[in-house]
Amino acid sequence: MKIDTLAVHSGRRIDPATGAVTPPIHLSTTFERDPDGEYPRGFSYSREDNPNRRALEECLAALEGGTEALAFSSGLAVAAALVQGLEPGDHIIAPDDVYYGLRKVIGDVFGKWKIDTSYVDMTDLGAVRAAVKPATRLVLVETPSNPLLKITDLADIAKIAREANAISVCDGTFATPVLQRPLEHGIDMVMHSTTKYTAGHSDVLGGALVTKFDNYLFERARKGQRYGGSAPSPFDCWLTLRGVSTLPLRVRAMSESAARIAAFLHRHPAVETVHYPGLAHHPGHETAKRQMSGFGGMLSMEIRGGKAEAMAAAARMRIFTRATSLGGTHSLVEHRASVEGPNSKTPQSLLRMSIGLESVDDLIEDLSAALGSAIA
Ligand SMILES: *Cc1c(COP(=O)(O)O)cnc(C)c1O
Repeated sequence: MKIDTLAVHSGRRIDPATGAVTPPIHLSTTFERDPDGEYPRGFSYSREDNPNRRALEECLAALEGGTEALAFSSGLAVAAALVQGLEPGDHIIAPDDVYYGLRKVIGDVFGKWKIDTSYVDMTDLGAVRAAVKPATRLVLVETPSNPLLKITDLADIAKIAREANAISVCDGTFATPVLQRPLEHGIDMVMHSTTKYTAGHSDVLGGALVTKFDNYLFERARKGQRYGGSAPSPFDCWLTLRGVSTLPLRVRAMSESAARIAAFLHRHPAVETVHYPGLAHHPGHETAKRQMSGFGGMLSMEIRGGKAEAMAAAARMRIFTRATSLGGTHSLVEHRASVEGPNSKTPQSLLRMSIGLESVDDLIEDLSAALGSAIA
């Protein structure tokens, strides 16, 4: 079945009690036991499992082509569950431009765990290979990456991880399974911040881990979800699953708009560089063409000048909202360096944009007005 059909039907069935076409929200935290002590309907207590969570997990596993999925209360709860599954002294290979929250999870939350982490440029396969140690257990990859939209070859990373006897996990938040299915390229598990494109309306936090096969890190993450208490609420699961119904449509529309905006910015005299994997000059363009079916709704640009010029351009935008996050219906613009803090390697002149569902003509007009004054 195609992803558009799975997005609408997977995990859903007509409610047997009422005939409801849209699934009900099961707020009950506890479920009736049979006289013999069994739970024939499969649910006992909501932290361990809940009908809305199970429906969402079934759907997310189907979208990625995985066997099982776990839904969490946030994207970082997934990262925490993964790191918690490692032993003290284990080694992680992670991208040098990994989502900054992951560094916080590894370094701050689990700092006492004595996890050894090498942050490397994942587009440099020699560097990834050189980073492998006997204790390497987890290889994280994020493609496209944040905020430079760097592209990493998934099949190559999967091979290096397999040879190292480590588990490979791709953060698929930016691409979504609509544009890229890492499991098909040999990656072992995919994680998502479902807060972004998956739920898609900037109104619910969530995370997910999808696996291709049963493995110890997935089983430990399951324990983290059930007994570590990082389970999402039934309403959060319901909202996320509702968002998934339109995920393929939204992502394709946003990708189309982003491609037009990238081409417009690429020609604009006030813009130094545009980072978008759909542009022919982007260093990851060929790899992206091979492993993605579209280039996504995220892009970034470096404005001529520096921080002041970038901040001023963002301040002149009327439709783009200055806010963090991505993947919602509103177009957002963000000065990443100031969000990431003093250790950020992101250029001060860079603005990251999440393209929303507004008319692309209006968005281009907004950018044109904001940047036009930059050259005047
Ligand atoms: C937002 C984000 C996360 C963290 O997810 P939360 O839902 O905010 O906890 C992880 N990875 C990427 C790529 C993200 O964009």
